[in-house]
Parts: sequence; structure tokens; C-alpha cells
Amino acid sequence: MQSPKVKKLVTLLSRLPGVGEKTAARYVLYLLTTDAEIARDLGAELATLHEELRPCARCGNIAEVVPGEPAAVCTICRDDRRDGKLLCIVGRVHDLQAIERTGAMRGRYFVLGRLLSPLEGIGPEDLPLPRLLTRIRDEGITEVIVATPPSVDGEATALLLKRELAPAGVKMTRIASGVPHGGDLEYADPITMGRALAGRQTL
Ligand SMILES: [Zn+2]
Repeated sequence: MQSPKVKKLVTLLSRLPGVGEKTAARYVLYLLTTDAEIARDLGAELATLHEELRPCARCGNIAEVVPGEPAAVCTICRDDRRDGKLLCIVGRVHDLQAIERTGAMRGRYFVLGRLLSPLEGIGPEDLPLPRLLTRIRDEGITEVIVATPPSVDGEATALLLKRELAPAGVKMTRIASGVPHGGDLEYADPITMGRALAGRQTL
């Protein structure tokens, strides 16, 4: 018989991706038997997660909320050493992180948040294309790297971007197929990802 509190914690933890009930129960036991500070720190950080972190107003990456500032802007967007003329378009924040791990991207990013998916009923109007176009024009971006995953939806999104961004007159490239087809950028190792970025081809 489990205590109601343990049960509740196991249920909550097992909602996380990749965590089943067994793993969740192990986490609860670990937190109970180890230094109490770990559980307290974890709880405190989780409690303020949504207040202190927001999507970056410029690119959609994770950004820290600065008290007194109306919009959250991420560290990449604030970094003046980045090439402001080069923009890498990704589907999700996970993909941005996978590319950042290569250390090969000198420009900044734009996170779409979702991919074009006719099967799931996600059409062009569901993507933030007007915001993307405004950013390209306002910042004088000259090269766009499309780094959507090599899946059916990722390819469809790349083609849509090619069409929609054509009037902006920017150089457009697509990351090379170093990443396995249908694969997730998130799981590509930094070397493969770095090669895919270096070997990008005209879209
Ligand atoms: Zn940003």
C-alpha cells in the first residue's frame, strides 16, 4: 500500500516524457532517502518555472524574465558577437539546442514552434510567417538556414518557407542530410549535426 502523497508524486512524475511509473517511484524514493535539500531546491525551482522563464520575444528560445522589462529576450539574441545577418529557422527549441551544441552556428535563430502538417491539420496560417518576414526585413537578414528535421513535415515546412520567403530576396540554404531521414535533430550527435550545418545546400 502506497501513501497517498507517494502515489500523487508518482502520478505527477510519470507524466514527464520518458518516465514510467517504475522510474517515477524510484525518483520519489531517492528524493526521500537522500539530502532533503535536493527535494526542496527542486520544488522551489519548479514552483517559479513559468513565472521566470518565457519564450524569447524575438526568436522563441527560452528566455529569463527580467523584472521591469516588458519582453523576455534570450541570451543568444542579446549576444552582440553573433552574426545578425544570418538566421537559422528551426521547428522547436530542442532543435535549436541541438544546433547550439555543435558550436558551429554563428547567427541567430527563429523557432517556428510547430511544423506544417496537413495530416494533423496544421496549415501555413498556423505558422508565425508574418512575424518571421517582419524580422527578416527589420533586421536586414541576408542568409536563412532552414534547419527543420528531415521528416515529411520538416520537408513540407522547408518548401513552404522557400515559397513564402522568396519575396524577401534572402539567400536560402537547407541543412544537409547528415541527419537520418525521419530522424530527430535532438538525437543527432554534435559532429553529425555540425556536418549537416556545414554542408548546407541552396534551397
Ligand atoms: Zn532569442
